[in-house]
Amino acid sequence: MQLIDGKKISAEIKVEIAREVQQLKDRGCKTPHLAAVLVGHDGASETYVAGKVKACEEVGFKSTLIRYESDIDESTLLNTVHELNRNEDIDGFIVQLPLPDHISEQKVIEAIDPRKDVDGFHPVNLGRMVLGLPAFISATPAGIMELIKRYGIQTSGKSCVVVGRSNIVGKPISILLSQKADPGDATVTLCHSRTRNLDDVVRASDIVIAALGKPGFVTAGMVKEGAVVIDVGITRVKSDVTKSGWKLLGDVRFDEVAPKCSYITPVPGGVGLMTIVSLLKNTLIAAKHEIYP
Ligand code: NDP
Repeated sequence: MQLIDGKKISAEIKVEIAREVQQLKDRGCKTPHLAAVLVGHDGASETYVAGKVKACEEVGFKSTLIRYESDIDESTLLNTVHELNRNEDIDGFIVQLPLPDHISEQKVIEAIDPRKDVDGFHPVNLGRMVLGLPAFISATPAGIMELIKRYGIQTSGKSCVVVGRSNIVGKPISILLSQKADPGDATVTLCHSRTRNLDDVVRASDIVIAALGKPGFVTAGMVKEGAVVIDVGITRVKSDVTKSGWKLLGDVRFDEVAPKCSYITPVPGGVGLMTIVSLLKNTLIAAKHEIYP
């Protein structure tokens, strides 16, 4: 069994990005600039956004954090999005989800200029991705693809199950893995809460992507010998042991599943760290106008 080390790979990618940022600066180009909009005080969102801002500093990006209380109205938030679209110094920006119930996430996402949509949530980017055109790919699926690439994991002709069909993880990763590309060319089954005989589907798969947000859902009995298991799930639970008072649980029972796998990602230390570097990569791509010249 080989551990897919998201910590190591994400650190390597950060060095690569920092080097490129330095080269841009040396050539007199502007510093890549990522902005994040955070609404309210949700603990997980605060942690994610703080991680993104810190990562920007590490690679030499500029970053801007715009905060609002959770009672902000939708039109004020949409105005901020329009301003960010117009602000020439900002290459890309994200609006951290989830948003309070009185704000339409879809309206906000669709207000973002696709050229600055470094989260890859805008229908234009999702549509381009489906068509195999250059696009901002949402950070978590992009991070998973990068791990697969860097570990030289074969996907062509393999059977792959994705458990979870969200727009930000399950659906896009199922499309990327089934695309005529390398990595890709897998035969993908997309499962969800209505799937029948889910255990059998998982047991028949060479590659298992667990993205449902149910801690410990995937057990050893569900995984075939030699499978590749990618655990996307992150559930924060209270802990008396950790300094922060929280610990993170994946969707896979790592201790019992790992001995059966050819490759497996841990939680934490796997996909989560790749998500942040993929966002940085997208921001660099936006700054270089590589997708939308
Ligand atoms: P969503 O909550 O949006 O979707 C969950 C999906 O799982 C749904 O499609 C749902 O099915 C399916 N599902 C739920 N229960 C079952 C079940 N018992 N059997 C089969 N399918 C089930 O999830 P997200 O994609 O947003 O997140 C999934 C997990 O990944 C979460 O733990 C989240 O925290 C984590 N995550 C991690 C990231 C990272 O950086 N590593 C980034 C984003 C998310 P249905 O559609 O039928 O309801």
